[in-house]
Amino acid sequence: MAKDILIMKILKNKIFLLFFFLLTALLLSISYQIRSDYSIVTISDTNDSGSPSKSSKWIIFKSSHFTVYCNPTANLKRIERKLRKRKFYITGLKNSDYSRNIQDKIGYRLDRLFVRAKQILDMNPRIKKIHLKIFKNRKEVKEEFFKIYRIRRRVKSFYVYKFNTIFISEQDITDSVVAHEIGHALTDHYFVVIPPLKVREMLASYVDLHLEEERILVE
Ligand SMILES: [Zn+2]
Repeated sequence: MAKDILIMKILKNKIFLLFFFLLTALLLSISYQIRSDYSIVTISDTNDSGSPSKSSKWIIFKSSHFTVYCNPTANLKRIERKLRKRKFYITGLKNSDYSRNIQDKIGYRLDRLFVRAKQILDMNPRIKKIHLKIFKNRKEVKEEFFKIYRIRRRVKSFYVYKFNTIFISEQDITDSVVAHEIGHALTDHYFVVIPPLKVREMLASYVDLHLEEERILVE
């Protein structure tokens, strides 16, 4: 009888150990799942952040409000020129120091567009640095759009809230297009309940449309 009890005890212990093992395995797999889900939406400062694509070679630089990823063959001077077509006045940003390098100049111009977009929309949402991915051409942007949404669409640029990223190309980048996409970023972060697409599109276009509306116009 005592032997039976002993065997029962051992069995119970084994069942308990098995149960414990299974529970641990389950918990580990859940936490792994959470972490892998999380890693999809996390934007780190590494090369492959900002989109599902794992393109490894980007020129990366930062400004106050942006992390910019340029394709390695990008003509930065050309990009900077294309971002300087519109003339508008803003307050609250220090004057540009033209002795700075081309990356700083691009960053400074983007920051100006960002501040101006906030003024136009009168929105000041909490938003982390926006990722700006500048691909070589529109074809690559279309490919990126397909990778994310699995839809083929003719797009010049787009903003994805989940990645806080603007996707654009060297071919199509202008301050007007970037201002429009910044408008999307701001409105997406501003509203608790995201407005319908048409309203968001209208607000983003509003930024582009009203960039210059000020008394004093400077570059
Ligand atoms: Zn839009």
